[in-house]
Amino acid sequence: MSQLLAGKNALILGVANKWSIAYAIAHAYVREGARVLLTYQSERQKQTVEELGAELGVARVLPCDVTQEAEVSALVEQIRTGCGTLDAMVHSIAFANKEDLSRPFVETPREGFLLAHDVSAYSLVALSRAVAPLMTAGGSIMTLSYLASVRVMPNYNVMGVAKASLEACVRYLASDLGPQNIRVNAISAGPVKTASARAVKDFSKMLEGAAAHGPLRRATDPAEVADTAVFLASTLGRGVTGNVVYVDAGFQIMGV
Ligand code: NAP
Repeated sequence: MSQLLAGKNALILGVANKWSIAYAIAHAYVREGARVLLTYQSERQKQTVEELGAELGVARVLPCDVTQEAEVSALVEQIRTGCGTLDAMVHSIAFANKEDLSRPFVETPREGFLLAHDVSAYSLVALSRAVAPLMTAGGSIMTLSYLASVRVMPNYNVMGVAKASLEACVRYLASDLGPQNIRVNAISAGPVKTASARAVKDFSKMLEGAAAHGPLRRATDPAEVADTAVFLASTLGRGVTGNVVYVDAGFQIMGV
């Protein structure tokens, strides 16, 4: 079978380690023939992401803390000089203070609320604005969301609210960028054991509950999230924009 992303340049933000959803996506993109660029947030993660990138066979590993406008601009400049154009961007980034994920939502301080929204939602807007001029032949932008955007999930708190904002950003960005044939979507993944997920109190219970009660009676495999990310970046996804695509073994349809 021919490779679905052959000849495409793809930027993937959010690989922290082998358990990251972004790692599974990078693996699938390389398999499908994309030229992949990864980013790391700080010097602390540089060596790990460079080693993972070398293992995967990605083209480049570049720095970018998404809260720093100057770093977003520098990233785009490096892509412009290195690749010229971009076909896909995967935003797989979120952050909230751990204490805001365990105390009642009503007690969320202003600072924690703004931080979660800055890193987890606004960064998609800033990055989309920055990369859109590189998507000269159209493109596909996607982000990772979670069911807590539309349902109350224990301990998700401010991150659930930030995901609601993120999904609304997807719709507005899709509307703005559609005339340039740039599609913007979210993949709402079921629970996956990652470093970020570990910050959510009682995460294992959520994962076990979803696996026990969802239609497919099993947990979400990051590889199936990655395959949907391939579909969205490929020509096969050409008619899909402004959507939240659930890859959660069906859990979101259940009432109880
Ligand atoms: P992860 O491996 O911990 O990935 C989160 C990434 O965000 C890390 O690479 C982290 O970098 C990066 N990040 C945080 N703040 C940043 C900043 N200021 N600038 C640049 N990068 C920053 O966890 P994950 O579960 O794969 O999360 C990826 C996405 O999937 C998130 O949006 C998450 O909400 C979403 N999601 C996860 C699940 C799940 O159950 N795991 C389910 C649905 C959706 P550092 O490690 O360097 O801080």
